[in-house]
Amino acid sequence: MLRMGGAGTTGMLMAAGAQSAGPAYPPPTTVDTGTVADGKVAFPEWRGAADKPSAPPPAPTPPAQRVGFAIVGLGRLSLEEILPAFGECGKARPVALVSGTPDKLRAVAKQYGIAESACYDYAGFDRIQDDPAIQAVYIVLPNGMHREYVERAAAAGKHVLCEKPMATSTGDARAMVDACARAGVRLMVAYRCQYQAHNQRAQAFVRDGTFGRLVGMSAVNVQTTAPDATRQWRHKRALSGGGALPDIGLYCLNAARFLTGEEPVEVFATVVSPPGDPRFAEVEETVSFTLRFPSGFIANSFTSYGAREDKHQRLLFAQATVDMPNAYAYTGQRLVVGRRARSDTVQEEVVLKATNQFAAEIDHFAECVRKNQRPRTPGEEGVQDHVVMDAIYRSAATGRPVMLPRVDGLDATRGPMPRQA
Ligand code: NAD
Repeated sequence: MLRMGGAGTTGMLMAAGAQSAGPAYPPPTTVDTGTVADGKVAFPEWRGAADKPSAPPPAPTPPAQRVGFAIVGLGRLSLEEILPAFGECGKARPVALVSGTPDKLRAVAKQYGIAESACYDYAGFDRIQDDPAIQAVYIVLPNGMHREYVERAAAAGKHVLCEKPMATSTGDARAMVDACARAGVRLMVAYRCQYQAHNQRAQAFVRDGTFGRLVGMSAVNVQTTAPDATRQWRHKRALSGGGALPDIGLYCLNAARFLTGEEPVEVFATVVSPPGDPRFAEVEETVSFTLRFPSGFIANSFTSYGAREDKHQRLLFAQATVDMPNAYAYTGQRLVVGRRARSDTVQEEVVLKATNQFAAEIDHFAECVRKNQRPRTPGEEGVQDHVVMDAIYRSAATGRPVMLPRVDGLDATRGPMPRQA
């Protein structure tokens, strides 16, 4: 007699008289087991059409084949977001750390299983060129240090992912693009929102004309800074390049650009800082800026280090209002569409799976490195934000609108869209 076994014994035949581990279960079908093609497991849908189908299971690259990253700078962003996000990456892994603080370097290396031989200080950074496990470098240093470390990483022959803002001046940003082009390495600026599901859906609403023309946008990115914040690099111009604008207002500016794919042709701005506050002796507290785009779309943005945290974006379409609470936050994004339905006004929330946007951004760069492709947010994307920020500061200084050269076509500074989950 031959019997089919229980769980986990699909297709395995047990000889008569053999000890069975348990009762005889009805054998699974491929609906239960799924199927494997191209090294990927797929399950057929088992729920009704009224329910949202589940996404295919992740198919991570085997750890040894993932793109190896060196993380440069072990500050808050690296420790609180980036290193944990690697745990959710499928194509990238951390293989080296760079820090000027030896006890922190040792502690973090232990936490993430990084060998002592793959820990570098800033003086020894250039030795990364001898480590073939490091294919890419993620620069997470104060803004004023980005140029030096991007150039040194490129000279070491490593691809570079650089935190935003790309630099502290347009000239530095351009030099970084040139250095990476000369070295033949890819450069990407870490505009995580462009890899975030709610922001990508909002972009699709604009590009597909789902609700008609995008007429306007109101974007707020504000937060407060501690009374003794003068000790922090964000309040030192040489390291930050500016105050709220390059740090957080940049998200509003970049969103207005990537949602539409257009480039602004006119900028008008006002900058205000509380007089006598030492925190704002070198950098500004508050910036209000308006961008006009070739299609007539107008983006009004407000950024400040003086107001309680709020990161709200509202898109004003001809036929709908799309509200995005927490648009620029690490988590908690929402997408609420207000529109007319027959004789009613409805507010509908588009519920999207919350995924780790840092992991999505890192995996996108890893894929670009592996396939030798231009990233969605290459260095040129960062340069253009610097060009517009220069115009914002110029307008505020002169009290007049500043015109920018018209850029034809869409997404002039971007690579192809990443595959969406
Ligand atoms: P942070 O102050 O927490 O970390 C900066 C690290 O740089 C620290 O470990 C510090 O020791 C090191 N450092 C080396 N030399 C330094 C010097 N001379 N002065 C000061 N620090 C020095 O800052 P952070 O918040 O991690 O920001 C780092 C970068 O990441 C910045 O470019 C910032 O704009 C960017 N950032 C991006 C996001 C995002 O959501 N993408 C969020 C926060 C910060």
